[in-house]
Amino acid sequence: MTENPFFETWGTPFGLPPFDRISPEHFAPAFDRAMDEHDAEIAVITASPAAPTFANTIEALERSGRLLDRVSRVFFNLDGSNTNDALEAIARDYAPKLAQHQTRIALNERLFKRISELHAQRETLGLAVDQLRLIERHHLRLVRSGALLRSEQKSRMAAIAERLAVLHTLFGQNVLHDERDWQLTLDEVDLDGLPDFTRAAAAQAAKDRGLAGRWLVTLARSSAEPFLTFSSRRDLRRSSWEAWTARGTHQGANDNAPLIREIVALRAEQGRLLGYANFAAYRLDDSMAKTADAVEHLLTQVWEPAKAKAGAELAELESVARREGLNEPIEPWDWRYYAEKVRQAQYDLDEAEVKPYFVLDNMVQAAFDTARRLFGVTFTERSDVPVYHPDVRVWEVRDNAGDHVGVFVHDNFLRPGKRSGAWSSRYRDQEDLDGAIAPIVVNNNNFAKGAPTLLSFDDAETLFHEFGHGLHSLLSRVRYRSQSGTAVRRDFVEFPSQIFEHWMSAPETLRSYARHYQTGEPIPEELLRRLLAARTFNQGFATVEYLGSALLDLELHCEPSPQKLDLARFEREFLDRIGMPREVGLRHRQAHFQHLFAGGGYAAGYYAYLWAEVLDADGFAAFTEGGDVFDPELAARLKTIYSAGDTCDPMELYRAFRGRDPKIDALLEQRGLTADK
Ligand SMILES: [Zn+2]
Repeated sequence: MTENPFFETWGTPFGLPPFDRISPEHFAPAFDRAMDEHDAEIAVITASPAAPTFANTIEALERSGRLLDRVSRVFFNLDGSNTNDALEAIARDYAPKLAQHQTRIALNERLFKRISELHAQRETLGLAVDQLRLIERHHLRLVRSGALLRSEQKSRMAAIAERLAVLHTLFGQNVLHDERDWQLTLDEVDLDGLPDFTRAAAAQAAKDRGLAGRWLVTLARSSAEPFLTFSSRRDLRRSSWEAWTARGTHQGANDNAPLIREIVALRAEQGRLLGYANFAAYRLDDSMAKTADAVEHLLTQVWEPAKAKAGAELAELESVARREGLNEPIEPWDWRYYAEKVRQAQYDLDEAEVKPYFVLDNMVQAAFDTARRLFGVTFTERSDVPVYHPDVRVWEVRDNAGDHVGVFVHDNFLRPGKRSGAWSSRYRDQEDLDGAIAPIVVNNNNFAKGAPTLLSFDDAETLFHEFGHGLHSLLSRVRYRSQSGTAVRRDFVEFPSQIFEHWMSAPETLRSYARHYQTGEPIPEELLRRLLAARTFNQGFATVEYLGSALLDLELHCEPSPQKLDLARFEREFLDRIGMPREVGLRHRQAHFQHLFAGGGYAAGYYAYLWAEVLDADGFAAFTEGGDVFDPELAARLKTIYSAGDTCDPMELYRAFRGRDPKIDALLEQRGLTADK
């Protein structure tokens, strides 16, 4: 057997993983050894005869599990971005083992005793602010894992965590298989209405799947959404819509319905064991929102105006549809198509006219330059480093003084072994406990590759969104790894990403970077004006589509005994009760709602985007009110939030930046939901 790269020091530039030397068979032995090492490190902490101190317990804990962290980061990033049968099998095998391992440590009584003792005396230990918070977070984490429970309850908590890890893994794999297997094959006669760039992407998708000379629509958002927007073939739009929204429900080996029932039942039990009425109460107790009532209050404040706006939009869609000869009601597979017609008529704005100005490489450069102007960091491409796929690009990040800040890995294109959606992750977190360790950050998107790749306005926003998360990890300046970058509460983590989106649509940015892919000409002023004027267009639809999913998530996780639910009926009845317009359709049906079920991170937490939007809309308004979106003093205050990680309370961070509490007005304004609009 060849040497296992995980057991060596990496001599690669910046300590990037030596992707060219890592193969699937290295993971199992690496995971096994890493868990053993971690156990041994914990044993040293708990066996210490010395009284617990911050250094011999909390800092020792921060230093533990290094190999496991390294193996896990490489494994889960590759499994998300570039998986295959071998990696999927390892994921199924190790998800429960890793969960078991983590629970065993979280429920280690001797470890908890030491941390509890320190926690009780924390105010008298002479600790710095970040250290105090670190003790509190470790203590709370163990309590929330079940450290205070009786022993049989602890065993049950461990069994639940292990089973959930299996179910989450299977859920994500099922969605991926569905997305990989389904396709709508088109002949030339089926392309009616599709603009050139959509045809080109469909031709490329066909080529990728060995059907050169034909055209394909897949279940990827970047393929399905343009098709639904432009195809004048109502029958094909319907097929595409039905397949797209049925992801995860196709009966047979990849059916997610039974998994969801078990997942929500186990979560509810988890909440009950810890003394909460339901899972949402447990989950939200450790969030900015704190309670389901607070979340519901926010969501319903936006729900009614959003529904009213969607109703007005529907009326416009209907009148266009009638003129075009559609005499039946508008269906969910019609909305995007007729909305595009209304947009063309009302704003004289045509997606096909806009897209040639959004070249991927230019928008990436725009994101880099925005980061330079706001936060003083520069990006230099490196082609001498190992990558896991030829499409992946790597950049070194430096600060104004020329010092190394970190590494940014960009993985932008759709491919069969890649999870859908867009996300930011890390191969290594920033920390400074035993000397500076620089972060290695990766952003994933799922853009359809073209020559050159052209983005929609929404795609460009997504690019900036993930890059905002990336900056949150890159600009992190903390001492302890577990407080690094994005290790903040879930309903705060979307603030740095969402506020960064605002710079994409700033006229300053568009004038410089939105350039025609053939002529290089900047976007005409008059088109720019129409583009920005149309920003609140269809926001009733988008808000309702999102809120329907967020409200459903909350309702499902507020159920005390969800094991008895008929989920399809539950969804139907709930949507009826809240008056979900049937023409809109949910952004995520349960069976492919990966935020909720391919992991636990956003369970009872999908509201987080809107929660953070209150902050990002209000926060960006600080820049526009002052008339300079690059105002250096404000940018410096904002940078503090990106650098603080989880060393402070998020609302305190926000107040220090804004000088006051957030207000909801800017959010309603930016979605066009104020009464006078
Ligand atoms: Zn995000």
